[in-house]
Amino acid sequence: MNDDTPQMLSGLRCAWLSSVNEEDIQFVKDGAVVWDETGNFVYVGEWNQRPLNEAIVWEDQRENLLLPGFVDVHAHLPQYPVVARAGHELLPWLNRFVFPAEKSFTRHRAKEHAPRFYRELKRNGITTSVLFSSIHEDSTHECFVHAEASGLRIVLGQMMMDRISYSGLTATQCLTAAIEGSERLCARWHGAADGRLRYAVSPRFAVTCSMELMKKAATLAHQTGAYIQTHLSENREELRVVADLFPNTPDYTGVYEHAGLLGERTLMGHAIYLNDRERKILAASGTKVAHCPSSNLFLQSGVMDWTALDCEGIRWGLGNDVAGGPELSPWDVMKAAFYAHASRAMVTEHPAVPSLARLFHAATAGGAVVLGDGSKSGKLTPGHVADAVLWNTQETLPYGEPLLERPADEILSTLIFRGNRAKVEKMWVQGKRNFDLLDPTIAESHLGDDASQTQSFQSF
Ligand SMILES: [Zn+2]
Repeated sequence: MNDDTPQMLSGLRCAWLSSVNEEDIQFVKDGAVVWDETGNFVYVGEWNQRPLNEAIVWEDQRENLLLPGFVDVHAHLPQYPVVARAGHELLPWLNRFVFPAEKSFTRHRAKEHAPRFYRELKRNGITTSVLFSSIHEDSTHECFVHAEASGLRIVLGQMMMDRISYSGLTATQCLTAAIEGSERLCARWHGAADGRLRYAVSPRFAVTCSMELMKKAATLAHQTGAYIQTHLSENREELRVVADLFPNTPDYTGVYEHAGLLGERTLMGHAIYLNDRERKILAASGTKVAHCPSSNLFLQSGVMDWTALDCEGIRWGLGNDVAGGPELSPWDVMKAAFYAHASRAMVTEHPAVPSLARLFHAATAGGAVVLGDGSKSGKLTPGHVADAVLWNTQETLPYGEPLLERPADEILSTLIFRGNRAKVEKMWVQGKRNFDLLDPTIAESHLGDDASQTQSFQSF
């Protein structure tokens, strides 16, 4: 390529809002953003101070609001058909709804559901999603194939379980399938699509995994640089089972510590019932937490003590934890976080409700930090990747009152509590527009088809 070729730049004239840090947001009503051919922002600011460069191709979106793409750090792709099945706590809910749904997530079904699921992520403004698949290697491979086609940033892993499983295989066969399948998938997909796809070694949780499996999972992650994701201390009955299974470890986190699963690239879902020792070893190891407030309320699990995590310097992002959480939307997750922590504040002596700016940060820049990407994504700012979503906010205020005329804090509050009335118009990942967002050729369909048959599994 000739170095003298003028670079094409893409520009949007629009309102924009972004996190500045954990407690501050910035809003510009008549704004402009510009990104270059590599998909990185080169200008984010006021329209009247925009660079006067003829290479910029401008698009006028003054009626709409640009936000950074959401970074959701915990969800389960095969579980989406069984969302919103309330009335059970974690372990019976897994047996009744989740294991049958995951068991039926064959390669054929993955091919059918994965593209629809990714489209749903887009409709909810999510540009980066961290996902568990089922125990099936071939289904997980299909999820990666469609993740590549989706244009989204996806971190994904084959679910690993051997002590309890829905596979019908022996424990030894389960362990071998989990490790060998994960090795092959990680080798094929970790870092694929120019780094847009990444692998997460994914032992389900200590209840369903042998120590041997967890140790082998840790070794695989450390050898490959993949992420590790699992669940920690979500539900009181789960804690009791883990204590019975691993009587020689000091606490739940101690099980993962012994397996070698803690570290900078490890994401622990939930982390509700932690003691001081657990928080200290999570902090010392650099382990991150996926806070899943809507799921924690829905499954009656508990309320995570986010201030205690903050005190130890443990970084946390937000996860919808579908199907534990009933909705994919990060607006709903933020709303649930506010209500959960407000309720807790009313009944404890340590009232602490995260600010709305903090919740928005956790859903965007904070999620990027959790993934180790904080220096290059999660905000609308020069040097960051252009992962951004253009929202139509016309229906968010009563009687069509224009939201973008309001102050920044009112805009954010309205979106967190009424964001399900906002509509994604367009989105970009690494500056590339996702053209299939409203593609009518992708047929609407019902996802909840046949995962409802009740099957019983080896009980907890
Ligand atoms: Zn989960």
